[in-house]
Amino acid sequence: MSHDADQARSFVAQDDLRWLWGHAESVRRILDLGALLRRGARSEITDYLRALPGRELLRRKGEVDRVPLIFIPTAGESRQLSLSSTDYTSMANEIVNAILNANVSDLRCVVVVENTRPTLALASTAPIAGVYWHLAVALDDERIRRCESEDCGNNFAAIDNRQRFCGDPCAGRARKRKQRRK
Ligand SMILES: [Zn+2]
Repeated sequence: MSHDADQARSFVAQDDLRWLWGHAESVRRILDLGALLRRGARSEITDYLRALPGRELLRRKGEVDRVPLIFIPTAGESRQLSLSSTDYTSMANEIVNAILNANVSDLRCVVVVENTRPTLALASTAPIAGVYWHLAVALDDERIRRCESEDCGNNFAAIDNRQRFCGDPCAGRARKRKQRRK
């Protein structure tokens, strides 16, 4: 078998798929928790975290009584996050923090100078770090938001600051609805 075929085969090995889905899930967590934190939706944050696979704790009402199991995939070792927060909003912040930091830690700044004009860029041996970097920037710019389409509610990262819908189908439906109301 050729070297290329060997590589292709190892790329679809079970562990790599686990790694891929781990990242897909982590990105989803950041979009969901980022949008909820931005809206200060404390009770929705509680419901969201309590609905994740987790471990029950014996606590009084109003305290954390269930700790979600959060798997953090990184370029190197993937690990289970051990949470220390005593309320669900702090826990949401802790999860977003841990996922982002575990994945951007090996980004380095590169300066390219052409005709005396420097351009700053970020580089990493793990290209996936770029995904988390952009998510962190979107979070900081308040571009992680909930789709405004009545029947969607999907959380997404807006590419443009004016973007209010998660994609063209939702934007199209909202436009049609608006036209019908006129
Ligand atoms: Zn939508």
